[in-house]
Amino acid sequence: MSLSDSERERYRRHLTLGEIGATGQERLKAARVLIVGAGGLGSPAALYLAAAGCGTLGLLDDDRVDLSNLQRQVLFDSAHLGELKAESGRERLSALNPEVRIIAHALELRAANVRELFAQYDLVLDGTDRLATRYLINDACVILRRPLVSAAIHRFEGHLMTYVPGQSACYRCVFPQGGDGMVANCAEAGVLGVLPGVLGTLQATEAIKLITGVGEPLTGRLLTYDALAMRFAEFRVKRRRDCAVCGDAPTITEPRDMATQAVTPEGVRRLTAAELHELLQRGERPLLVDVREDAEFAAGHLPGAVHIPLGQLPQHLAEIKPQSDPVFICRSGGRSMMACQLALRAGIRSPANLEGGMSAWAASIDPSVRVL
Ligand SMILES: [Zn+2]
Repeated sequence: MSLSDSERERYRRHLTLGEIGATGQERLKAARVLIVGAGGLGSPAALYLAAAGCGTLGLLDDDRVDLSNLQRQVLFDSAHLGELKAESGRERLSALNPEVRIIAHALELRAANVRELFAQYDLVLDGTDRLATRYLINDACVILRRPLVSAAIHRFEGHLMTYVPGQSACYRCVFPQGGDGMVANCAEAGVLGVLPGVLGTLQATEAIKLITGVGEPLTGRLLTYDALAMRFAEFRVKRRRDCAVCGDAPTITEPRDMATQAVTPEGVRRLTAAELHELLQRGERPLLVDVREDAEFAAGHLPGAVHIPLGQLPQHLAEIKPQSDPVFICRSGGRSMMACQLALRAGIRSPANLEGGMSAWAASIDPSVRVL
């Protein structure tokens, strides 16, 4: 895959980098990358990978451009409302760089089509906001041995990790099952528009590093980003020998569609608002950890609750005693489920999730508590 004169000119700033040079640029030209989800994360990832000369770029999304997407999905503009994202995105990327081949997949990723789709690509970027799809992508990447760069965003926070087959922990090792914290639908949860710009660009960076072989991939590490505190944190992750898909005795050996309802992972206790209320009435004093943002916590919280926003939890987990059986609390139970999973990974035996979060508490126990 040698470079044409116009390519040499276009990628001059890459060719000048000793670490990339002509060899790296030729590798980029030969690379085939699939971006699942042409939304907030997929937009910057696709733009930068197309600009960088990634030779074949697949854009998979069955959705159409909506006015409320334009606050963050920079692949589209106001003239493209109502168009299929995959098709509209292909036009924009081809205009940006006619040297690369853009393939539009205007469909939903399912267990039934994942093999055929992934067979056409060397590397997968997960920018989806659907929990079921996230697990399907991970499992398919493990089974079909495709590297995966996974990112997720929620409100002001995001996380990122890279999976390399046979070398590192997979997404399911870190988040064994369910938990809708970071994958809550943006339309419901709200998201700072620039946040996916940061995470999607980091995904493109990881992809370019994997393709060209430069640098150190984000494997064995979960990177978290808290935009409000402007803080990145790292959380070490190891391959789980008991992982359902990449472990020593996997139970998932074929990609499969997951039920979309949130599943409580093994080891996490479910606590309803009524059960927690009863516990507190009995005089028990479990460690209550509220993982919401500052403003949410300030508006109203449970008496005695400790406040650690989810984005800062990795640095503070060591302070939580393994036997303290903490109860994690957020607005509606999603972020706290994520917190439970992080706690499990940190060796806390029996974390509990307040189901339905403070919203459920306000609805069924104490209507005077303000929930943002
Ligand atoms: Zn795994």
